[in-house]
Amino acid sequence: MKNSKLITKCQVCNSKKLELIKFFGYMPPVNQVINIDKRPTEQPSYPTELLHCKDCHLFQLGLIVDQQILFPKKYQYTAKYAHKVRVGGFY
Ligand SMILES: [Zn+2]
Repeated sequence: MKNSKLITKCQVCNSKKLELIKFFGYMPPVNQVINIDKRPTEQPSYPTELLHCKDCHLFQLGLIVDQQILFPKKYQYTAKYAHKVRVGGFY
């Protein structure tokens, strides 16, 4: 793990009263999902938990994954391009 951070207190109110709502398993970062017709290989994955703060009721993920892992430079679908896709000017 590089600079990923495990959430132990609420990101809004700093409460430690976080309850696990759902564990979605281990998810790979973007562009890392192996095609169904390929043999599986070793790949990084990160625990994806949905937590609920009992004090302010914020729902949040249980791990903040390093931004460079989540959105590497080769990942092109960012908010900057999302607007062009929506308005049809991308092609
Ligand atoms: Zn909170």
